[in-house]
Amino acid sequence: MQIDVGVSLKPYNTFGLPALAGRLVRIRSDADVRQVVDHPELGRAPKFILGGGSNVILTRDMPELVLKVEVAGMRLHSQSDSATIVEAGAGVSWHALVAWTLAQGWPGLENLALIPGSVGAAPVQNIGAYGLELQDRFDSADAVDLVTGRSVTLDAAACHFAYRDSVFKHSLAGKSLITRVRLRLPRPWRPVLGYLDLERRMAETGNSHPDAQTIFDWVCAIRRAKLPDPALIGNVGSFFKNPIVSAEQCRDITGRDPHVVHYPLPDGSFKLAAGWLIDACGWKGKTVGSAGVYDKQALVLVNRGGAIGSEVQTLARAIVESVYGRFGIRLETEPVIV
Ligand SMILES: Cc1cc2nc3c(=O)[nH]c(=O)nc-3n(C[C@H](O)[C@H](O)[C@H](O)COP(=O)(O)OP(=O)(O)OC[C@H]3O[C@@H](n4cnc5c(N)ncnc54)[C@H](O)[C@@H]3O)c2cc1C
Repeated sequence: MQIDVGVSLKPYNTFGLPALAGRLVRIRSDADVRQVVDHPELGRAPKFILGGGSNVILTRDMPELVLKVEVAGMRLHSQSDSATIVEAGAGVSWHALVAWTLAQGWPGLENLALIPGSVGAAPVQNIGAYGLELQDRFDSADAVDLVTGRSVTLDAAACHFAYRDSVFKHSLAGKSLITRVRLRLPRPWRPVLGYLDLERRMAETGNSHPDAQTIFDWVCAIRRAKLPDPALIGNVGSFFKNPIVSAEQCRDITGRDPHVVHYPLPDGSFKLAAGWLIDACGWKGKTVGSAGVYDKQALVLVNRGGAIGSEVQTLARAIVESVYGRFGIRLETEPVIV
């Protein structure tokens, strides 16, 4: 096992925040995790699991042992009349998996194209976009317990998926390292087209029966137009979750401000557009030090060059307070603040 010492994490987080890992070990298999767990000293050390760093805000150097997940490999696991099940290593790029499944003729993940990060982190916040969430395609995940070194397989029920949430953000946070994920792609394939941006594309192009490749291309084009490319401007995508409120709360808020953007959910609650709430408080384009609110989309905080984690935190807190002050809604952050 190779232990790297004093590793800069700046290239390993998409916000481009400076932080040093005291010690970093690259994890390429379950056996690598067990070696760490069985190590007389590393076994007891506090640990931090790092995937592609596209959903973390690093506000300090890391005294924890950083486990950088690099488990590789994609394969067909099994196929039946009702589904194709594919398996990928936790270190595989999520978008590479989406593109690969499509190229193999196994559609089903196209709405989740171009989400940065690793396959292993996808279940952690139950990634979602354009009308689809990971839980809609999840079969199971293999994980290794960071205390006992035991490998376990978790099905969807064990993962407790919810909106941008799962057991890996709660009782298993930092305790269980996901090494492989299996996804169930239903057969026959049915497009997911209910999302407004996709409906607009269908109307614009006159194509009301797009195939999976077309949906993939549309999603990539929409995302490229809306979100800053982390390779050019540091960011972690949406910085806040869209708040979910009861019908009564929604009536109260829209009664006071009829323009508040809100969507009904199947269970009778409503999702409010966090970006709209932030924009309404005048935050678009504002900065704290070198951390700023993206001028095209208020839900995204960006690195204007040389930002440090504490500036991002200060900006995020100020936004939360101002939205709370005006709308009485406390925004929750989507990325993990370390
Ligand atoms: C431009 C941009 C757009 C984005 N768009 C979306 C979007 O549309 N929808 C969406 O849901 N998200 C989006 N995100 C957020 C991000 O891409 C996802 O949350 C992604 O799944 C994070 O993957 P990662 O490998 O970078 O995780 P990291 O940032 O490395 O880690 C995130 C969390 O997961 C834990 N973790 C990582 N790997 C593992 C593992 N193998 N086992 C256990 N725990 C682990 C970490 O400890 C940390 O707590 C976007 C981000 C960016 C930069």
